Amino acid sequence: MSNTTKKIAVFPGSFDPITLGHVDIINRALPLFDTIIIAIGSNAAKKHMWALEDRKAAIEKVFANNQAIKVDTYEGLTADFCKKEGAQFILRGLRNQTDFAYEQNIAQANDKVNAVDSVFLISSPEHSFISSSIVRDIARNNGDFSALVP
Ligand code: ADP
Repeated sequence: MSNTTKKIAVFPGSFDPITLGHVDIINRALPLFDTIIIAIGSNAAKKHMWALEDRKAAIEKVFANNQAIKVDTYEGLTADFCKKEGAQFILRGLRNQTDFAYEQNIAQANDKVNAVDSVFLISSPEHSFISSSIVRDIARNNGDFSALVP
């Protein structure tokens, strides 16, 4: 990669919904890249709580004032989406060893098969307990999850 090549990262996820944990990773990754594309993977077989368009709108609202951040949706392999966008990097957050064990194989496969490098940021301690699935659990039971989302 030459010095003038723009550094583009894709931050893929379900974002069902976006949480303060995601926002923290994105904000901390901003100094590393020229552009971060927040990419919502749409998988018809996967059950979601919030509609794809609602998830996209929520993310766009959070980062409306930041020109370095784009929001998009994609189907299929993350690596293929990266190729299409000219992104050299996949950005992911790590909360714990379970995240690490899961991410390691995927990152190594993406490196081997697609030559896309993954960049990991360890979650801030105050955010490492937050997950979209906890938010969905609270929402399902009519609880207040406002402290966990932007
Ligand atoms: P996926 O379905 O691909 O796991 P998510 O939307 O749950 O998608 O997560 C997207 C990325 O954000 C993953 O790398 C995940 O580890 C990371 N992430 C999720 N919650 C947090 C958090 N609280 N702190 C740091 N990273 C997080």
